[in-house]
Amino acid sequence: MIDNNTYSNLFNKQKANQFQIGNTSYKQRIAKLNSLKKALEVTYKQEIREAIFKDFKKPQLETDLTELYPVIDEINFVKQNLKSWLKNQQVDTPLALLGASSYIVNEPKGVCLIISPWNYPINLTFGPLVSAIAAGNTVILKPSEMTPHTSKVMAKIVSELFDENEIALVEGEVEVSQELLKLPFNHIFFTGSPAVGKIVMKAASQHLTSVTLELGGKSPSIIDDSAHLEKAVKKIVYGKFTNAGQTCIAPDYVLLHESLKADFITCFKNEVSSFYSENPEESNSYSRIVNNKHFERLKGGLEDAKSKGSTVEFGGSFNASDGYIQPTLVSNLTEDATLMQEEIFGPILPIKTYKSIEEAITYINSKEKPLALYIFSKKKKAIDYIIQNTRAGSTCVNHNLLQFLNHNLPFGGSNNSGIGKSHGYFGFLEFANQRSVLKQHTIGAVDLLTPPYTNWKQKIVDLTIKWF
Ligand code: NAD
Repeated sequence: MIDNNTYSNLFNKQKANQFQIGNTSYKQRIAKLNSLKKALEVTYKQEIREAIFKDFKKPQLETDLTELYPVIDEINFVKQNLKSWLKNQQVDTPLALLGASSYIVNEPKGVCLIISPWNYPINLTFGPLVSAIAAGNTVILKPSEMTPHTSKVMAKIVSELFDENEIALVEGEVEVSQELLKLPFNHIFFTGSPAVGKIVMKAASQHLTSVTLELGGKSPSIIDDSAHLEKAVKKIVYGKFTNAGQTCIAPDYVLLHESLKADFITCFKNEVSSFYSENPEESNSYSRIVNNKHFERLKGGLEDAKSKGSTVEFGGSFNASDGYIQPTLVSNLTEDATLMQEEIFGPILPIKTYKSIEEAITYINSKEKPLALYIFSKKKKAIDYIIQNTRAGSTCVNHNLLQFLNHNLPFGGSNNSGIGKSHGYFGFLEFANQRSVLKQHTIGAVDLLTPPYTNWKQKIVDLTIKWF
């Protein structure tokens, strides 16, 4: 039973406290980030690794690299830059406003809600939290119900480090998010599927709450005929099967030049075996599917593809008792196959051949804008051509996933794959209102133009329009 008052009380406590938190100094904010860093780096490191392993057998190295490192790195980046981000930014004032000066203040938005998914629970809950703290907000966090062990550890960390009138984490099912979404937050940062993104945006519109939506979709990888095929396949296998394909920016499907198909399949088999051995089920480097619902969804997707005449080139075995799905390669898919219609979000990789790069581009542009688009090519002209003639949230050339790790780059989608950006300065801006301030120091030109509107005032306006 959900007690709605619990959430509105929590919200009201944070609302009452927002100016105190908003007026914290640079040093106070850094101190908070340092305490979070210590929790991740030292105090709770092992507990986090064990919790994520319990949730979906994520290997320890992957947890360290894809959950802990990005948040710690985000904190380090913020520590290096926050002082300058918090400074009032002086800007020019036009001559027509002579006697005034202007600047921009990055003020906190206020009370923020962060709703996160299960696939990188630490990274996608605490990553945005770092930006929210940096910008001086109070925050309610709602992680996914699908990774309960990890949520429990995160709740412990948050309650140990922060008062609930500043930062609080609430656990629970979808209904908890639905109740929270009724409250008049100043900003909502949501990471999840486009379908739920629409629900979040609709709820936010009731209060004209601003939103950041970090969504998903089908991210293509193009391999052209100039690419170093072995290297490309190795990287795609890494990008696709890390976290067992449950990564928003994993290559969803591969578009490759038709001349490369046979060699691609051979390289794929070699790479999967070299990463995960002949039997990936016994490999301790390979995650499991998070729950039965997603397991059945993926199994159904492959069965649907097979029933429509596709070829399983590699893999295709399942073990429901353990949520295991073998790294799988499928070709000859029809367009109506679920695997070509919906984001796969699991370890099944479709390949589709093309004759000309225009054909590949037309195909990509016939779909929603992807969160990521990957290009494997040695030809600069071809790379530029693809970038200029497609749209995507981000692109990585001759690799995949890595764009996420550069905090100098904005991370996010476009339209169906997302609204707004995260990471570094872009994440900080998402949680800040750029308040404009104009200070009048002396009598200004506009003061000479108040009513009554005489002929000479009209002449001044004419001159202003013409010359300034
Ligand atoms: P999801 O959209 O099902 O759930 C995300 C969050 O929303 C969870 O906390 C869940 O409790 C909550 N939620 C679910 N249904 C809701 C509803 N009806 N009302 C209110 N809240 C609701 O997504 P997921 O399965 O957790 O994650 C997978 C999706 O997230 C994929 O589409 C993936 O591409 C995307 N994703 C995007 C990014 C990114 O950075 N762009 C990162 C990770 C995952």
